[in-house]
Amino acid sequence: MNKLRIAIQKSGRLSEKSLEMLRECGIKISNTDRKLKAEARNFPMEILFLRDDDIPQYVEQGVADIGFLGENEVWEKAKDVEVVQKLGFGNCRLSLAIPKEDEYTGLNFFRGKKIATSYPVILEKYFGEKGIDVQVETINGSVEIATGIGLANGIFDIVSTGSTLIMNGLKEVETLMKSEAVLIAHKSLGRVQKELLDKLLFRIKAYQRGVGSKYIVLNAPNESIPKICSILPGMKSPSILPLADEGWSSVHSVVKEDEFWDVIDALKEVKAQGILVMPIEKMIL
Ligand code: ATP
Ligand code: ZN
Repeated sequence: MNKLRIAIQKSGRLSEKSLEMLRECGIKISNTDRKLKAEARNFPMEILFLRDDDIPQYVEQGVADIGFLGENEVWEKAKDVEVVQKLGFGNCRLSLAIPKEDEYTGLNFFRGKKIATSYPVILEKYFGEKGIDVQVETINGSVEIATGIGLANGIFDIVSTGSTLIMNGLKEVETLMKSEAVLIAHKSLGRVQKELLDKLLFRIKAYQRGVGSKYIVLNAPNESIPKICSILPGMKSPSILPLADEGWSSVHSVVKEDEFWDVIDALKEVKAQGILVMPIEKMIL
């Protein structure tokens, strides 16, 4: 087949973001009413809509060439697939929680205790490595009610804001790992699939760089330009254009999102004016 087959979650927390990522890569999908399959209109790609739990297995077997899913599912299913790229959405953590009235005494609290979870593989491996015996109670949903109904002494589950835990009278006591959505790939892709994957990765990275950066334009008196250049390294170096007002220039550059406010503060100190900040849609290096 001369197409790239991608598996994404059919319906759930990763579905919309997965489709959005493909859209940002310029891939248009004809029918997203989520039957089982859809075709991309302008990229040789077939999209399979699946339960996220099944994606590692499909990718391991090569039924799908690649997939988007949470790292937590990749670790739990422990299939032989390659994790190629972090996708920057679906962020959460996997944590241990206990009833809020219980006194937490460290990991030893769990020795001999029952822990309810949908992630038995990750949990058993963790306590195995620590040499602490625990009883793992595997359940498929509503893990957060397990202590309230007397099924377990604690739970191990996905947490994002922690509000579900609080609503169920629990407190988070240990974070075992952080997770986000990743792109996984079959271990031995065909030549065409490999080329298509490289093309997709190129687009994903251009999008992620754009999201993580801002385009910045400002005016400054010429004598401030050397200082401004040292604050604004840009991709290579800032562009400097003379303004109609003699003695003044306009400076254009790119700033990383996480350095952004520090850079603005530093620019104000050296008399930069009329600072404009714009989003960047894509950034190709
Ligand atoms: P499926 O029907 O496909 O099996 P699911 O119920 O297993 O769906 P969702 O709840 O839709 O899965 O979560 C999918 C993934 O989204 C999780 O495995 C995790 O990686 C990520 N995620 C991010 N934030 C959260 C959250 N607050 N709660 C649950 N999952 C989250
Ligand atoms: Zn699932």
